[in-house]
Amino acid sequence: MNFEATIPNPNAGSQEFYEVDGLKHCSLCHTPMETWVVFGHVRKKVSCLCQCKTEARDQRDQAFKARQQAERKKQRKVSHIQDPAMRRMTFEADNGACPGAIEKAKRYVAQFDTSCSENIGLLFYGDVGTGKTFTAGCIVNVLNDKGYNVLGTSLTRLRDDLPGEFESDRSRSQYYDRLAAYDLVLIDDFGIERQSEFTLEQIYNLIDARYKSGKPTIITTNLTPEQLKNPKNMAQRRIYDRINEMCSPMLFEGQSQRPARQKQKTELARKLLSPESRG
Ligand SMILES: [Zn+2]
Repeated sequence: MNFEATIPNPNAGSQEFYEVDGLKHCSLCHTPMETWVVFGHVRKKVSCLCQCKTEARDQRDQAFKARQQAERKKQRKVSHIQDPAMRRMTFEADNGACPGAIEKAKRYVAQFDTSCSENIGLLFYGDVGTGKTFTAGCIVNVLNDKGYNVLGTSLTRLRDDLPGEFESDRSRSQYYDRLAAYDLVLIDDFGIERQSEFTLEQIYNLIDARYKSGKPTIITTNLTPEQLKNPKNMAQRRIYDRINEMCSPMLFEGQSQRPARQKQKTELARKLLSPESRG
């Protein structure tokens, strides 16, 4: 049997070679493309990878692994940070509009192990467009990249995902268990005005699930601490009490970023649509 013929030649192709002591050598890297292997009493010549082919293969493997890793990272981001816009909220993308808050957010991230074990939650409040969501988004993105089990979501999404009125108690409790398992949950845009009694009960349960988990929650809201301290009814009071206990309030001040961004966009649209513009 011709042993060499049974082994696929890894150097197959038009690789140039020369022979030294009966073994093919690569003309490029001058290392052997064949080697001797002993099978019982028989010595056989088999093909092997020369150095340049080995390096090329390792590079391909590395590139493949890097692609796999990037894909896993992307998938992880998609499943942990639900809003695509929130996934782009990173310290690198910061436009410097709220430096104080960003500095605090960086310190929070750097000391997250303590924040997590001590259950230090945060309540970002202040006017619309002052960077609350962006700052909170930065925190969950960094922690997600660091491998913490985080969830970046909004109250609307949480409520939409909740098992409905007619689903089993089991699926409901599984839902709350999942919520409790995260190291950190960001609930963006918290507001519970004009909610039905059933919804308020569900919101209480999900806030309570986080409370009982003993792990931090970050909430952004347009509600003021005064509103949070003066609920309109009993159902609101139960929810606000939990939030006040879990989260330290942090005021976001300053000019709303939205008019400036809108102005930029209007300007861009005007340029794009003007007769001088050639796409
Ligand atoms: Zn070679």
